[in-house]
Amino acid sequence: MKIVLASRNKHKIKEWQATLGKYIDGVELLSLDDVGITGEIEENGETFEENALIKACAAAKSGYLSVGEDSGLAVNALNGEPGIYSARYAGQHGNDQANNERLLERLKGQSDRSAKFVCTIALVDPQLPNHGICLRGETEGVILEGLRGEGGFGYDPLFFYEPMGKTFSEMSGEEKNSISHRGKAIALLAEQLKRYQTR
Ligand code: IMP
Repeated sequence: MKIVLASRNKHKIKEWQATLGKYIDGVELLSLDDVGITGEIEENGETFEENALIKACAAAKSGYLSVGEDSGLAVNALNGEPGIYSARYAGQHGNDQANNERLLERLKGQSDRSAKFVCTIALVDPQLPNHGICLRGETEGVILEGLRGEGGFGYDPLFFYEPMGKTFSEMSGEEKNSISHRGKAIALLAEQLKRYQTR
């Protein structure tokens, strides 16, 4: 089964291939580049779900079953910030260091440091383009006062997962996948994909 993931990020495609491949034999993840979709997809939704759907619908123009992912961090003491703005919290898209610094600054002196990572995945069948479905995975943790660990990306070095006593940066890829917001959402997606397995 071939599925388009609405991304050009090779790292993301590879991670998805490994995770989804565990649930579905022979699944092949294609990127937007693989199916010849060029140009930026404008993520102008107001929720994770809307943005995931925007991406999945754009990818479904390829004619393949398509998924879009939108994810981020929601901090309770900041009323859910950075939320859908997680990737560009400090202004510039994808500047992890600046985003982490801004988060630490905003939480200075704050005793409630609870937060959650959210991952939303939209699945769109090109034969039913107006009937996308959304799946959501969440993982709760605590924002530390400084960075810990070397691995991962984004807010991983600040996000402490109490049941394992580690930040996401201190976990192996497999450990993170087993409890992460993304791992949970992909597991839900795999359930949905079973009915397409004959394609
Ligand atoms: P997206 O690629 O538009 O979904 O943006 C997601 C942003 O949320 C990333 O750039 C990170 O800043 C943050 N994020 C989402 N998932 C994770 C994660 O697993 N670890 C660390 N940061 C994450």
